[in-house]
Amino acid sequence: GNKNINAKLVLLGDVGAGKSSLVLRFVKGQFVDFQESTIGAAFFSQTLAVNDATVKFEIWDTAGQERYHSLAPMYYRGAAAAVVVYDITNQASFARAKKWVQELQAQGNPNMVMALAGNKADLPDARKVTTEEAQTYAQENGLFLMETSAKTAINVNDVFYEIAKRLSQAQQVQNPS
Ligand code: GDP
Repeated sequence: GNKNINAKLVLLGDVGAGKSSLVLRFVKGQFVDFQESTIGAAFFSQTLAVNDATVKFEIWDTAGQERYHSLAPMYYRGAAAAVVVYDITNQASFARAKKWVQELQAQGNPNMVMALAGNKADLPDARKVTTEEAQTYAQENGLFLMETSAKTAINVNDVFYEIAKRLSQAQQVQNPS
């Protein structure tokens, strides 16, 4: 039968990597050139149908600023999925993304489905992080990589669909009825 899955999803990453923009693109199909930075956290809900499941995401957009870092565990507590975002034009943001992955692996839900989103893929001339290095990192750390653009919408829905698929498969394993 059809399964209903409620999944808390968090976005983590450097300020300016495009977390709010990815959420806005996914939830509303919009892009804003000068997105106001997130104060604290914003909450959205979005439902996707995959295979035999309906996945309702409860999306928490977290402020990635170091000064809010002590609040991060509160955001990712109970999260079924995380999108760790970096900006392909910014090496420091990739380093920061790796720190988030480490933290989630050490302290998050052990069954968490994790995506690595290399955002701003519409700016190839300014690229500083190669697809190869990100792909290698993702494979070695058990997450999947997608290069996205909140601006052009490339791969944005795909990140959430892939997470929904993995969540529905994980549920099948846990409740094989
Ligand atoms: P956050 O701090 O991680 O939430 O990042 P924002 O969503 O606020 O985005 C930071 C800036 O990058 C904003 O000016 C966005 O318009 C811009 N931005 C976000 N995503 C993209 C993208 O995919 N391509 C381009 N070119 N700019 C983007």
